[in-house]
Amino acid sequence: MARQVYVAENAGFCFGVQRAVNTTLYENQKKSSKVFTLGPLIHNDDVVKNLAEQGISQISTEDIERLGPEDALVIRSHGVTPEIFERIMKTGAKIIDATCPYVASIQRKARKYYEEGYQIVIVGDPNHPEVIGINGCCNNTAIITRNGDELNNLPDRVCILSQTTERQSNFEKTREIVSKKCKDMLAFNTICSATRERQDSAEQISKTVDLMIVIGGRHSSNTKKLYEVCSANCKTLLIENKQELPDWVRTDLQLERIGVTAGASTPDWIIDEIVDIISLIADDRVIQEESD
Ligand code: SF4
Repeated sequence: MARQVYVAENAGFCFGVQRAVNTTLYENQKKSSKVFTLGPLIHNDDVVKNLAEQGISQISTEDIERLGPEDALVIRSHGVTPEIFERIMKTGAKIIDATCPYVASIQRKARKYYEEGYQIVIVGDPNHPEVIGINGCCNNTAIITRNGDELNNLPDRVCILSQTTERQSNFEKTREIVSKKCKDMLAFNTICSATRERQDSAEQISKTVDLMIVIGGRHSSNTKKLYEVCSANCKTLLIENKQELPDWVRTDLQLERIGVTAGASTPDWIIDEIVDIISLIADDRVIQEESD
C-alpha cells in the first residue's frame, strides 16, 4: 500500500497569531518608527528570524526603559501585566497592542472578579507569559494550578479561569475539585477554540496513523499540548522545521499513514515544506479530515 499523508484541518497560525504578525508587518511598512517586539513575537524561530531580516527587533522587559518616542513596541498575543503596560507608556513609545482579544477577555474577567472579592484560580503554567499577564490583572494574587490536584484551603468564593492553550481535561478536573470545596464557584472555560480545534483534529488523526508529526516551536505551549495528545495514540515526532525532519520518515516504507499537525505559531509555508518532503512517495498528498 502506498503512503498516505493526512494534514489536520485546524493546523498552523491561529487568528491571534496571524493578527499579531500582520499588525507588526503593517506597522513596520509605515516606516514611521523603529519597530520592536516585546520578546519573540511568536514561538517560532523561523518567523522571528524573518522579522529580524525586515528590521524588526526584539527587546526584553528589562530594556523597556531604553525605548523612546521615536519607537513603536508590539505587545504580542499573550498580553502583558498592567505594570509592564505602564512602564511602556512612560517611555513615550507608540504601543501596538496585539494582545489576542481572547486573552484580553480573560484579563478583564480576572480584574472584574478579583475586584468583586473572588479568589482567582488559573489553570495553566505559572511561567507562561499569558498566565503572568492574567495574574497581573488580579494584583498577582491568583492561585495557579496545573490540574487542581494541589488546591487546598480555598476561600468560599472562587473564580476559575484557564490559560487559552490548556488541556480540556485539566480544566474539567480543576472545576470538579473546586466545586467540592467552595460554596460560591464561578468557572469560565477560557480555553481558546483554536486550541481545542487543533487538539481535537490532532487527536482524531493520531488514532488512525502510524506516525504523527507535530510541527511547532519547542517553547510553544499549544505545540507541546498537541504533542502530548498525539503521543497518547501513536509514535509522534515534534519538529520545528524541515531541517529537523529525520531522513527515516521519508524513506521508511513501513510508514503507510502519516499525520501532520502544527501549533498555532507555525506558518503555512513551514507545514507545506514538510508535507512536500514526506509526500514524495505518497499517493495522496493530503487527505483532509472532516471539518467540525
Ligand atoms: S491560541 Fe487562541 S487565544 Fe491564543 S493567540 Fe491564538 S486565537 Fe488567541
